[in-house]
Amino acid sequence: MKTIDKFTFGVGDRFAHQAEAQLRAFQQLADRGIPVTPVWNKSNREHLIVDSDPAGTRAAADAAVSSLGWTSDYLLDADHINLGTVDRYLPHCDFYTIDVADDIGTPAAPEEIATFIDRHPELIGTIEIEGIAAPLRITREDVEKTARQFLKACELAGRIYRHIAGAKDGEDFIAEVSMDETDDPQTPPEMLVILAAIADQGFPIQTIAPKFTGRFNKGVDYVGDLARFEQEFNDDLAVIAHAIKAYGLPGTLKLSVHSGSDKFSIYGPIRRALARTGAGLHIKTAGTTWLEELIGLAEAGGEALALAKQIYATALEKKEALCEPYATVIDVDDSKLPGAEEVNEWTSGHYTDALRHDQSNPAYNQHFRQLLHVGFKVAAQLGDTYLDALKANTGVIGKNVTENIYQRHMVPLFLEEEDRPRQ
Ligand SMILES: [Zn+2]
Repeated sequence: MKTIDKFTFGVGDRFAHQAEAQLRAFQQLADRGIPVTPVWNKSNREHLIVDSDPAGTRAAADAAVSSLGWTSDYLLDADHINLGTVDRYLPHCDFYTIDVADDIGTPAAPEEIATFIDRHPELIGTIEIEGIAAPLRITREDVEKTARQFLKACELAGRIYRHIAGAKDGEDFIAEVSMDETDDPQTPPEMLVILAAIADQGFPIQTIAPKFTGRFNKGVDYVGDLARFEQEFNDDLAVIAHAIKAYGLPGTLKLSVHSGSDKFSIYGPIRRALARTGAGLHIKTAGTTWLEELIGLAEAGGEALALAKQIYATALEKKEALCEPYATVIDVDDSKLPGAEEVNEWTSGHYTDALRHDQSNPAYNQHFRQLLHVGFKVAAQLGDTYLDALKANTGVIGKNVTENIYQRHMVPLFLEEEDRPRQ
């Protein structure tokens, strides 16, 4: 097993041109005494849309690490893989996000459920968990219901793990299990049952991505009951610490927060929970970087601004098709989207004010932002026109990419208020 560091932070780079700018944010954080390991992740869906390959992600990450002289660890995440998609990642990745969300709800057979319960009588009754004030009370029916719903998914996670391990032939890697792309959040008692079932599969899970309460829409802030999120997050941490001891899971096992970019209102609760418990964290922020490319282009003005406007106009035209694959993770109100002609009149400042995630700016438009977030296919279809614009505007784009990750994400997640740099 490759041991995961305490804090890992997933970044994504749709077009593989920003790895260096991203890595600079980690350097700035390290300079303040907080080591966080970068993880470059890209799902198969994104590779297909952009027509890229895991080898490209690996090459970009390696080049950035070498050019900036980064000497700490860094990881490449095969994001949301399954048996059908994992193979092309195998030569390039050392972190695997094993996605079994589609198998949640595939009912386990009654005899499998009975066997599971026989093996785990400790799950039934009153369970004292350090860090949770009231003990969990779990009935036999609760365990049956959770087992029926999740056993198959956990079994599949084991199968995918063994497939990867077989292909890796002794080479170390990190395994995550993700269950976030589903409708219902998993409760802390369900998390306990799930971890027991994963432990039965006998593989060293080091991060688990549950679906949390509330909405984690792409590129915008968290929408939901903050107090409930905080409670759930704290309870999940306690359940994980309990499961590590009870089931001999790796001591490094930690929570993974997916769609973690831009969820500014939960960063405070997360930071407090980590400080209180000493727990680690993995957070994915992949999609936010592509929007900084657009912001940089708009800020550059001239032809670059025109290109950013053209991308919006096309995205607006192809809205239905672009939004469809992301329907459950975006909320775009059509009536709040500016028309293409209106945007055509915009200055650099107007475009960046609308797009940049600064909720204190009255011109910020989360609908505009979400549509562009899923609109990277438009840029991909522009091919070299887009890539050449990235190259021509490296400086202004890179500044925005680094600042967004460091200032808006890392600072509120990892630095106590009194330690923060003044903006
Ligand atoms: Zn996810």
